[in-house]
Amino acid sequence: MGEENKARKPHVLIFPYPGQGHINPMLQFAKRLVSKGVKVTLVTTIFLSKSLFSDPSAASIDLRTISDGFDEGGYGQAGSADVYVPTFRSVGSTSLTSLIKKLVDTGYPIHALVYDGFLPWALDVAKQFGIPSAVFFTQSCAVNSVYYHVSRGLLQLPLPGPNVYLPGLPSLQVSELPSLVCLYGSYPAWFDVVVDQFSNVDGADWMFFNIFYELEKEVVHWMSKFWKVMTIGPTIPSVYLDRRLGNDKDYGMNLFKPNTGACMSWLNGKPKGSVIYASFGSFALLEAEQMAELAWALKGSNYYFLWVVRETEEAKLPNNFIEETSEKGLVVTWSPQLEVLSHESIGCFLTHCGFNSVLEALSLGVPMLAMPQWTDQGTNAKYVEDVWGIGIRARPDEKGIVRRTVIEQCIKELLIEGEKGKEITKNAIKWKNLAKRAVDEGGSSDKNMDEFVANLLSDLRVSVFE
Ligand code: UDP
Repeated sequence: MGEENKARKPHVLIFPYPGQGHINPMLQFAKRLVSKGVKVTLVTTIFLSKSLFSDPSAASIDLRTISDGFDEGGYGQAGSADVYVPTFRSVGSTSLTSLIKKLVDTGYPIHALVYDGFLPWALDVAKQFGIPSAVFFTQSCAVNSVYYHVSRGLLQLPLPGPNVYLPGLPSLQVSELPSLVCLYGSYPAWFDVVVDQFSNVDGADWMFFNIFYELEKEVVHWMSKFWKVMTIGPTIPSVYLDRRLGNDKDYGMNLFKPNTGACMSWLNGKPKGSVIYASFGSFALLEAEQMAELAWALKGSNYYFLWVVRETEEAKLPNNFIEETSEKGLVVTWSPQLEVLSHESIGCFLTHCGFNSVLEALSLGVPMLAMPQWTDQGTNAKYVEDVWGIGIRARPDEKGIVRRTVIEQCIKELLIEGEKGKEITKNAIKWKNLAKRAVDEGGSSDKNMDEFVANLLSDLRVSVFE
C-alpha cells in the first residue's frame, strides 16, 4: 500500500471513559478494527496516560491524551463523581475539540468517533465537525434498556414493585434492576451518568454493544427498531476466542500492576478445577463485615483460593488472615485475570459480576458464583443465573451481607457439581462456543464490524486493498 493510500485509510477515534472496565473492551474493539485495515487513535486522559502499566502501541494503536481537569490525580483528585463528572464534561469538551483540530492539522483527519456512552458530550463535539459517530455501551443491552426507559420517563421512579416488565427482558424483580434505579437516590451523580447516555443518542449513527447477538437476542431486536444496533462482542483478547489476532493475550492497558508471576506459578501447582478465583473488579468497595464473611467462607470451604484484594481494600481483611490461610490461599492486589481464568486449575469464579468479568468467564467457560455489589452487577447476576444458566447467586441477608454459610454452600454446589452445578457446566460449554463463533470469521459480531468498516470505506470511497 503506497503512502497516499495509507493516509486515506479510515481513521477512527475511540474514546472510552477512563476506567479499567471501559478501557478494556474499547481497546480490544480498537484492535479488531486495526486488523480490518482501519487506523485507530485511542483517547485517554493525561492522568491515566501517566499511570498506565502497559502500552497499546504494540497493537498499532496511537494513544492521544486530553484533560479531564484533573491531570495530577484523575478521579481520585476530584474526590467524588459530583465533582469529576461535570468537570470532565466541560474541560474534556474543549480538550477533545483541540485534539480533533490537531489531528486534522497534522494530516490525520477523523472519519468516525466511537465514544463511550458515559461521555455523551463527545457526540456533541463530533457533530460540530460533522464527524459520524457511534456510541459504545460497555454494559449489557438489557441494562441499557432499563436506563433508556428511565431516561424517557417510561419507568417512573421510585418503582412501586414488585416486578418490572420491559420489552425483550425477562420479568425482573425490582431488586434485580441496576442499583442506581432500584435504590433510587443512592448515587445521584452516577444515576445522571447512566441516564444521560440517552440524552442525545438519537444523533448517533451507530450503537455498539459489547455483547453478541445470541446473548440478548430479544432486547437487541427491540432496540433495533429505534437505532442502528451493532453487537460486536465479546471483546476478549483473541487468543481466548478465534485466535485471528496473533498473540493477542491481554488487553494492553493496566491501571493496576498485576502480580502475574506470583499468580501463575502458584496456580501451576494446583489440580484441575480445584481453585476458587475471587475478584470484585477495579471499583467496588466491600464493607468490612462482608469482607470478613467472605474471608471465613473461603477459609471454611477448604478449597484453594486466589483472591484479588486491591491495595485500598487490604486493611479490611481480618487480622492474620493471610498468614493463617497461606497453605490454601493466595491474596494479590491485582491479577492477570484472563490468564487466571483460562488456567485449568480454576474451578469457579467468585465475582462481583462487572460486565467484563462476566463476559470473560462466559467466553472461557468458567462457572460463576455471583456476589453483585452495585450498578449493573445485580442485573448481570440475574442473567448469569436465570437466563444464561452459567452460575449461581449467593444471596444477601436482610442487612445486605452475604453470609459465610451461603457462600460455602454455593462453592460446594459449583465445585462438587450438584445437580445445578452439572447443568451450569453444560451451559458454560455451550456459551463459550457461541462466543467464539460470534467473533470468528463470518460470525454475527464479525459481520457487524465488517459492515461498519465497509460503511467508512464507502464514505471515503477507498479500499484498504487498493
Ligand atoms: N481485572 C484484571 N485483574 C484483576 C481484576 C480485574 O485484569 O485482578 C480486569 C478484568 O479482566 C476486567 C476488568 O478488570 O476486564 C474489570 O471490569 P469489570 O467490568 O469486570 O468490573 P469493574 O472494574 O468495571 O467493576
